[in-house]
Amino acid sequence: MKIHEYQAKKLFAAYGIPVEKHLLCETPAEIRTAFKKLGNKTAVVKAQVLTGGRGKAGGVKLVHNEEEAFKQANAILNMEIKGLQVKKVLLSEAVDIKSEYYVSFTIDRNTRSVILMLSASGGMDIEEVARLNPEKIQRFIIDPFIGLPDFLARQYAFTLFKEIENVNSMAVILQSLYRLFVEKDVSLAEINPLVLTNNGTLVAIDGKLVFDDNALYRHPDISALNEPTEEERTEAYARSCGFSYVRMDGSIGCMVNGAGLAMATMDLIKLYGASPANFLDIGGSSNPRKVTDAMQLLLADPKVCVVLINIFGGITRCDDVAQGLIQAVEMLKPSIPIVVRLTGTNEQEGRALLAGKQFFIAQSLEEAAQKAVSLFNELP
Ligand code: GDP
Ligand code: MN
Repeated sequence: MKIHEYQAKKLFAAYGIPVEKHLLCETPAEIRTAFKKLGNKTAVVKAQVLTGGRGKAGGVKLVHNEEEAFKQANAILNMEIKGLQVKKVLLSEAVDIKSEYYVSFTIDRNTRSVILMLSASGGMDIEEVARLNPEKIQRFIIDPFIGLPDFLARQYAFTLFKEIENVNSMAVILQSLYRLFVEKDVSLAEINPLVLTNNGTLVAIDGKLVFDDNALYRHPDISALNEPTEEERTEAYARSCGFSYVRMDGSIGCMVNGAGLAMATMDLIKLYGASPANFLDIGGSSNPRKVTDAMQLLLADPKVCVVLINIFGGITRCDDVAQGLIQAVEMLKPSIPIVVRLTGTNEQEGRALLAGKQFFIAQSLEEAAQKAVSLFNELP
């Protein structure tokens, strides 16, 4: 689970990590009050969306007076950044930046440890730095039994700073962020940039926290911060129906029972030259209701141009699935082509039920995938 910058900064502050003064606003009018309250000559208006690269997308603007703040907030609110609608902006006091650093803790699966990453190339897209200048990022494995005692925190801090005052502040920031990481079951804690100001202080002017979903039950305070995106809401709804559902970028909506079969179906769609719109495993059992729910889910996705249904009847009976499909099309009246492949228990009965209706029936998996792709290619 991701949280917004303003939420991350609240946690940073609670853990003793210095952040700049800031106020959250939901309307351009609130920005005026906030600007006065901040009382600074210059401020920064920042889009609060759950993605990085806001600066590049025009979602971070330096402003010099109330009027400018109002104008920029107006422009940024309702802006879309990487497909996400901006609903809130942060008005931050502008910080006089001398240099920018990157700091993060994350889980490294190879070493099965928390890993600290530090770079003096902060403020930039860290993936870009990792690709072009990997030597500019330092990585330190944290032994879970040792954690980050003073001597290590200072040793790591010395890799970025020479002045002892900076080293001291940095060591405290590293320890605080690590404590936050461990105590709140964080999977990524990132400050980019952590800045050294012209006054010689260190301030976290951006923050990103991603939490381990499987540990959220231990942290009701963190769960309460959740603001699911449209996509996450859909995925949560799918979970409540008993499905495994992951949205993707393609155009062929898939409804399959069994994760392995779902993967194979997606592979074949790719093989024949199209892309799946989703992974959807509707699981076992023959409840026709499931098929209706799944169909509703697929049709609600505007990217889906063709539906491909691939069911292997074991405990699931193909005639039950066919009943569900018939109910679903009667109810939802889909206007897009639907390809169905039913095999296994009661497949004859299932196919007989579907005959003469609006379905394209396929016998084999290959035929079904090929048919779905060719129907997609024929679309205007
Ligand atoms: P991101 O683009 O989503 O990572 O948003 P950030 O909050 O990291 O802001 C992007 C960049 O804007 C930072 O790396 C800084 O260079 C700049 N920036 C943000 N806040 C300030 C500020 O208070 N003063 C100055 N001078 N620059 C800022
Ligand atoms: Mn940033």
